[in-house]
Amino acid sequence: MSTIRYPTIALTVSLAASLLPATAANLFEGNEAIPSDAIVLFDGKDLSKWTGGGSEDRGGWKIENGYAVAGGGSIYTKQKFKDCQLHVEFWLPLMAGEQGQGRANSGVFLQDAYEVQILDSYGLRSNGGDCGAIYSISAPMVNACRPPEHWQSFDIFLRAARFDANGKKVASARMSVLHNGVWIQENVEVPRPTPGGGDGPKDPGSVQLQDHGCPIRFRNIWLRPL
Ligand code: MG
Repeated sequence: MSTIRYPTIALTVSLAASLLPATAANLFEGNEAIPSDAIVLFDGKDLSKWTGGGSEDRGGWKIENGYAVAGGGSIYTKQKFKDCQLHVEFWLPLMAGEQGQGRANSGVFLQDAYEVQILDSYGLRSNGGDCGAIYSISAPMVNACRPPEHWQSFDIFLRAARFDANGKKVASARMSVLHNGVWIQENVEVPRPTPGGGDGPKDPGSVQLQDHGCPIRFRNIWLRPL
């Protein structure tokens, strides 16, 4: 039996290895081509396309080694957008002494109103407050998190909320999200601002990177108006 079994196992292992995709560590390392129609919002060198909420004071955000580190308040794009694809890469520190929403919290807001949550949710069964959630409105379909201290990516697709000529909202925003290339939100209707999303969507609105008191790193941020 064993003379048959061992070659069978070896063949099975080598077949399985040949079918495996490239390891996660090889993906999304910041070398992805930026589409020719994208607006580069952060190239790792400066935050000149961002404000600290109407002022040039971007609080304690620091640039180091090709990434920005959150601190001293949230930042907002000077340019405002409607329908778009936003690509953003982020790195979460290991905050082993913290729990839940205290653990590497940040977020990406679109249209000044809708937050896609950033959090260290690695290994959890995701709920509406976890990484990739449209915060408090829609949990991700699957937990696609990498461990802390690894680069991750979001691609967020926004169909912006629509307004009539009097500024009355006539259609809710819809959002889809890829997390590390995994489809986690599918065309979700977002009927209200997420908590912390202010008094409602702006038309057009800023992209906001949230400072929630955690030293989250960001790099390679670009947006395609659609
Ligand atoms: Mg957040």
